[in-house]
Amino acid sequence: MEYGEERGRCIVCGNVLPYGRSDMKFCSVRCKSRYHYCNGGQFRALRLRIIKAIDRNHRILDTLLDEGIRSIDLPELGQLGYDFNCITSYHKVGGRNEYRCYDIKYYMTASRIFNLEKTCERRRIRLLSDPPPSD
Ligand SMILES: [Zn+2]
Repeated sequence: MEYGEERGRCIVCGNVLPYGRSDMKFCSVRCKSRYHYCNGGQFRALRLRIIKAIDRNHRILDTLLDEGIRSIDLPELGQLGYDFNCITSYHKVGGRNEYRCYDIKYYMTASRIFNLEKTCERRRIRLLSDPPPSD
């Protein structure tokens, strides 16, 4: 085996790398900056997509709460545009799956979400027109 065959290839263009450090990944500055530019761009787009989805999810949950809805079937929630992958946290709480989207939390089963509520409820004045508390 010739010595040259041990050299790696540029991960961008595939050219055989020049002699140098063994951890070298790029054949040139051009390939290196092309790699970082593309990866950075894809990351920014991905990040933006996730942030938008989480914000949309929060809007949907907030609207449900405003309408007094604390439980909804998964297909119905999906139809509203809810993205089940875009949440801000997940915990197993007492055998239940608790999900959070910023300040709103809910439990989820295979068919529905329930106990939808704000974790830091703004103090709300009870109005005379409100139904009496159920619990
Ligand atoms: Zn290259």
